[in-house]
Amino acid sequence: MDPRRRSTKKPLAPPLSNLHRHSAAGHRQEDDSQRRASDALPLPLQLTNALFLVLFFSAVYFLLRRWSDKIRTQTPLHVLTFSEILALLAFLASFVYLLGFFGIQFVQSFLLRPDDDEIVAVDGGFAAACPQSLNCAIPAAATPDLAAAPIELLLPQNDEELVQSVVSGAVPSYSLESKLGDCKRAAAIRREALQRITGRSLSGLPLEGFDYDSILGQCCEMPVGYVQIPVGIAGPLLLDGTEYSVPMATTEGCLVASTNRGCKAIHLSGGATSVLLRDGMTRAPVVRFPNIARAAQLKFYLEDPRNFDTVSMVFNRSSRFARLQSANCTLSGRSVYIRFCCSTGDAMGMNMVSKGVQNVLDFLQDADFFPDMEVVAISGNLCADKKPAAVNWIHGRGKSVVCEAVIRGDVVNKVLKTSVQSLVELNKDKNLVGSAMAGALGGFNAHASNIVSAVYLATGQDPAQNVESSHCITLMESTNEGRDLHVSVTMPCIEVGTVGGGTQLASQAACLNLLGVKGACYEAPGANARRLATVVAGSVLAGELSLMSALAAGQLVKSHMKYNRSSKDVTTHNAAAAAAASS
Ligand code: ADP
Repeated sequence: MDPRRRSTKKPLAPPLSNLHRHSAAGHRQEDDSQRRASDALPLPLQLTNALFLVLFFSAVYFLLRRWSDKIRTQTPLHVLTFSEILALLAFLASFVYLLGFFGIQFVQSFLLRPDDDEIVAVDGGFAAACPQSLNCAIPAAATPDLAAAPIELLLPQNDEELVQSVVSGAVPSYSLESKLGDCKRAAAIRREALQRITGRSLSGLPLEGFDYDSILGQCCEMPVGYVQIPVGIAGPLLLDGTEYSVPMATTEGCLVASTNRGCKAIHLSGGATSVLLRDGMTRAPVVRFPNIARAAQLKFYLEDPRNFDTVSMVFNRSSRFARLQSANCTLSGRSVYIRFCCSTGDAMGMNMVSKGVQNVLDFLQDADFFPDMEVVAISGNLCADKKPAAVNWIHGRGKSVVCEAVIRGDVVNKVLKTSVQSLVELNKDKNLVGSAMAGALGGFNAHASNIVSAVYLATGQDPAQNVESSHCITLMESTNEGRDLHVSVTMPCIEVGTVGGGTQLASQAACLNLLGVKGACYEAPGANARRLATVVAGSVLAGELSLMSALAAGQLVKSHMKYNRSSKDVTTHNAAAAAAASS
């Protein structure tokens, strides 16, 4: 047992009643600033350490003295007096304590090891990370453990009877995987039952050709098939001296072709350069106190640099890769929104950060430090996940990347079919003034979300995070005495990972592999995810260049009519394709 964690009756946090007496804010801050991080632990460390050190050395000194006396007087060593027994006990107790204390890092690496192996379900959000605290609506049976799921004896054995049981409601649709132990068969039965219940055909939605085991408990519940999205390649994108072929999953004609044209312009001009400014995923729980004094006390405690070591130690237990960077509090009445920010290695990190936050909340309540703290929700929306919010635009979320290129004037003319001056003016009128007039939040760009979404879908990112990931300001200026174009994109919230979530699925992993960022980077954890973020920014740069050029040259409608409006008879074509794809 960690000796520092033994319980004590002495309250370490000031009693709540005391706080009411300190009504002035200045007093509260003073009180709080005098507190130590170790105060949050159950024992005053310095006192205990001193006590055991004295005990240890006194016992050793006494025993050595007795030992030499016995040798001198030729008394057998095993004959012990009462005082010697007491000294031996004191020696043993203090030895155990000191070993535990000074070997605490060693002990922690075993006892408090990161519990990221517990992560089974991944949703790119926090539904799987904190099912209890969030009262997630997904029933436990929806993410069954196949190995532990015996086939029920009463279950109908043939498929037709099973379909009928699902249709009648005798067998819940969500329980098929756990009951059958065969994900593909479960999907087929559910699909057939669904068609009978709704009376509608799913013939265009393929069933075959997908590994349903790979999504169980991780990516999708109650599957009945999968949607196909074509993947196109833009590139090579020459970024930071490396060429990337960028996979884009999209059904929007023109998008890949346009991005490809931007890549060409960048390549011919010597490539683009990127800088990653920061890397940290956020989660902001909302907690409530009986009064504003206590709420403020939490803020002062968490934002006091002297407490950071304790809080981060507790937080970082969530994973080997989670490293707390900051915890900033915002008060609203007696509610506190704590925006935790941490690095997450190669994972996008929502699960990781949510688990770290849960650890800290448990700690704050358990340590008798803030027992009156009510956890309202592990996410209080100041995170802010999947919603446009100024906090992300200003402080960033995930990876903050800036990317630039200088496009030669002749390339602007020949490849982009426009002029430097036209681009600069259009950028001002559209991306800056136009967006300002629209009251845009992070939307000072032409179509960053087009590229972000397509790359996210191809590489297994959470597509819902395109909301903040697409925050981008595109700037264009003339340079080199007006001959060339300086273009940059600043993207503060690129939320990507190369492990976890959809990144492990075969198709998405193949796209990550194409970019050379598949899975975890063992040499430098986090390097793959960071590189992917720069590729996203580089691709956005290419997309911005090309669309802005098309707009400047008045080509947009023309090219969309060419790539977006097939002359084929789509009704017959779709019917044929559906027939081929159907199971
Ligand atoms: P997220 O936090 O993005 O939702 P996960 O919950 O799946 O994703 O977390 C990533 C998992 O992958 C964790 O269990 C973590 O231990 C593991 N992992 C392995 N290698 C790495 C790495 N290099 N960076 C981050 N996580 C890694």
